[in-house]
Amino acid sequence: MKLDEIEGATGRPSLIGRISGGLRTAFRGGVDLAMPPNCLACGRRVAADGALCPACWGTLRLIEKPYCAQLGIPFAYDLGPNVLSAEAIADPPPFERCRAVAAYDDVSRKLVHGLKYRDRQELARWMGVWMARAGQEVVAEADVIVPVPLHRWRLWRRRFNQSAMLAAAIGREARKPVDLHGLKRVKATRQQVGLTANERDDNVRGAFLVARNERAAIAGRRVLLVDDVYTTGATVKAATRALLRAGAAAVDVLVFARVVRGVQ
Ligand SMILES: [Zn+2]
Repeated sequence: MKLDEIEGATGRPSLIGRISGGLRTAFRGGVDLAMPPNCLACGRRVAADGALCPACWGTLRLIEKPYCAQLGIPFAYDLGPNVLSAEAIADPPPFERCRAVAAYDDVSRKLVHGLKYRDRQELARWMGVWMARAGQEVVAEADVIVPVPLHRWRLWRRRFNQSAMLAAAIGREARKPVDLHGLKRVKATRQQVGLTANERDDNVRGAFLVARNERAAIAGRRVLLVDDVYTTGATVKAATRALLRAGAAAVDVLVFARVVRGVQ
């Protein structure tokens, strides 16, 4: 006899029915409690996986057009297509275009630090999806995606390279090849945090290299260079120069967050 037939006979749930129903509810509740979707930035409960809560979403400053065609710095007004910022004109970068999901502020910093220092590797998947969307244009034109590498000592200490995880996630999302080994960091640089713009340039000068036997993967290709944060651009500029020296046809840059003056 089925449980619903027992319930139906008396018009009230039987003891067995009540226990069974209680267990079903508890089990469903248990599953929900074990795997609740949480806000990626603050951990508050949200409706779906890979989402931000309304409070975090409301403060995340997405970078959308209009922006500098080259550096991707947001403009207050739309000045027309292909307009460059004063920074791009004064100090032209070696890469063609840089795109970012968001300004580097409280919420985006939580995501970047969560991935980099707190071992929350599940973040890479969602951040990669957002990057593939924000950088749609540069991703579509890329022949190969290359992450900014860590020096092997730092990689050994940290165990994983957050930029490589983002590059892999973007590659999966956009179905593009990812080259994790072509570009090497040959100089153990100091952390860029706390250095001035000039010190940052000096620190990463000559830090990157494409080994001779890896050049075939880069030469003649349009490369999309991926990093987590763009601060002064010293790191991605040095990495871009190494890729161009190895014969890359062009380099674009895609980061999760970029420092925007007045927003930090
Ligand atoms: Zn939140």
